[in-house]
Amino acid sequence: MDLATVLYEVDGPVATITMNRPEVANAQDTALIDDLDAAFDAADADDSVRVVVLAGAGRHFSSGHDLKALVGQGEADEWVRLRETPEGKRRHEQVMYFDRCVKIYHFRKPTIAAVQGSCIAAGLMLACMCDLIVAAEDAVFQNPVLRMTGAGVELLVEPWELGIRKAKEFLLTGDRIDAAEAWRLGMVNRVVPTGNLMEATREMADKIALVPPVTAQVVKDTINHTFELMGKEQAWKYHFIAHHWMHNTATAQGALAERQSRSSMKDVFADRDRGDVPTTGH
Ligand code: ZN
Repeated sequence: MDLATVLYEVDGPVATITMNRPEVANAQDTALIDDLDAAFDAADADDSVRVVVLAGAGRHFSSGHDLKALVGQGEADEWVRLRETPEGKRRHEQVMYFDRCVKIYHFRKPTIAAVQGSCIAAGLMLACMCDLIVAAEDAVFQNPVLRMTGAGVELLVEPWELGIRKAKEFLLTGDRIDAAEAWRLGMVNRVVPTGNLMEATREMADKIALVPPVTAQVVKDTINHTFELMGKEQAWKYHFIAHHWMHNTATAQGALAERQSRSSMKDVFADRDRGDVPTTGH
């Protein structure tokens, strides 16, 4: 399988899907999101594959959405151009962010995210779509978008992953959580030495592959259904609408215009770290 931004490899019962844009910390642009989708489809269709590992090449799992094109500094593809209207923005985020993520969440076969380095914002959203997460000791989790006016990212995973009170702290402060803290909070299954990440993940995948596929799939589905009874997807849908309302506020539009006037992403992040974005004061 030949994909530009994702490596796809099947070894025995395990397919490994590796985001391969290490030069930008596996920032997710349209090509990467499309390639991930194609790789998951291939793993779904291949009966020899029983477990899927989702990984990131290089030092970081994923820094989130590729913001460059979104703030007018990178090459805009058709999806990015669609964002010029609220209708188009919603369509882009529904199809490319929300639906693609939920598809991974509902992926038939068990999935394991192998996370090292930065796992930020939409990177965290993506990791949390997997059934299990193995974290390297150097993994860092953060969703620092509120100070940039973002109402989180498109799927609000935090309350489900961290508990209600910690989720509020995590989002409102933008503070980082390290691997040990993520494990303590139950967000990750295991923390392993950074150099051992893929080996430890593979060990877990091989163990899961011993379960007959239909059994693994039905148990995954019924555990997810438990979350459905608590309203997980309804909560996600509500958040998605709220997220879009926020995108279209004067506060968010003003901040976006400000970001577009900055010459580099470094300046954009410096504004964020100062808490220095224009608001309407409400
Ligand atoms: Zn959004």
